[in-house]
Amino acid sequence: MRLGVTEHIDCAHLLPGHAKCGQLHGHTYTIEVAIEGEKSGGMVVDFAELRTAIRGVLQRYDHRNWNDVLEFPSVENICELLSGQLREALRFPFVIRVHEGRGKWAEM
Ligand SMILES: [Zn+2]
Repeated sequence: MRLGVTEHIDCAHLLPGHAKCGQLHGHTYTIEVAIEGEKSGGMVVDFAELRTAIRGVLQRYDHRNWNDVLEFPSVENICELLSGQLREALRFPFVIRVHEGRGKWAEM
């Protein structure tokens, strides 16, 4: 069974050398994480536990500039960074989807 949560963070970034995105600007990033596991006692995992683990990772970046941690903070690279950190924080296999604003996302 899959279980998912959705969180939001607001961050600044610029994409060096990019015609439009080369100027510093901001986005609301919507992060969807879906874990997969077996039910035990009626739950796969308590939502509170899942949110705490995910927020622990996301709060490192909320209201920050992605360029302080990534050379080229595309949504692809942000998704990869968050995925790597969630792998250490979650005890389930998961899929992460990162939306940059509306209608654009990367998933892995
Ligand atoms: Zn942007």
